[in-house]
Amino acid sequence: MLVNLKEILEPARTGGYAVGHFNVLTMLMARGVLEAAEELGAPVILGIEEKQLSMCPLEDFSYFVLPLAKRAKVPVAVHFDHVRTFDRAIEALKYGFTSVNYDCSEETFDENVWRVAELVHTAHAYGAAIEAQLGFVPEAADVRGGIDPATFTDPEEARIYVERTKVDALGVAVGTAHGEYLFRPNVDYDRIKAIADVTKLPLVLHGGSGLSDRDLRRAIQNGVGKINIFTDINIAGGQGVIQALGAGKNLYTDILPYVAHSIRVQAAEKIRLLRG
Ligand SMILES: [Zn+2]
Repeated sequence: MLVNLKEILEPARTGGYAVGHFNVLTMLMARGVLEAAEELGAPVILGIEEKQLSMCPLEDFSYFVLPLAKRAKVPVAVHFDHVRTFDRAIEALKYGFTSVNYDCSEETFDENVWRVAELVHTAHAYGAAIEAQLGFVPEAADVRGGIDPATFTDPEEARIYVERTKVDALGVAVGTAHGEYLFRPNVDYDRIKAIADVTKLPLVLHGGSGLSDRDLRRAIQNGVGKINIFTDINIAGGQGVIQALGAGKNLYTDILPYVAHSIRVQAAEKIRLLRG
């Protein structure tokens, strides 16, 4: 069933587990992740981010993901990730997305507060939830030597930010990065706990792909309620293609089942882990 992000993250926060967020750019990816979630009876978040719209426009995404979410046997939130403009966020809300990450992390603190508070107000009128970003989560490819802790989210700023914006979930910068890691990520668990303690919100960990099982568990134990995973299922899909070619398949329609299977297995592995 299609639900608001808050409806699945609040129980996760109080229950001590996390919900997986997977970007799905095709019907095959969406079905692979959903089948994994249904198999495990776990809630899940299906998303897409602004920079992926060249591969799957927002409207097209809404046509296949929203119906799949509505008829799913588990709670599903449909999410638009890292949106940079108010108008783009509103477009998603009009299509029926139940969650938007409004990323103003590169703006000043005051501008970030002002912009997000305005969208939170509007999104709640649509029955949707807003996740925001405080602290910048970089691309792994840009930070080969590791991430400067000076760019991490400050707990006291987070407390003020949440109080002023009334945001529903908070993406934090705590040592992770997007994409394939070229360095060993050094996650600041004490910072996660400090932010979770003062905000009382489900925290969102971007860059969850490539983290060890232990890293993911520790992040959850310290207050993370949503973990974004894309690269791991993207790699799994690529491995499906390699397996199909290795098995002598050369037709697209013969390769697809391998891709679907590989994505489903990888998504199930991650969802199982996040459930604790
Ligand atoms: Zn992200």
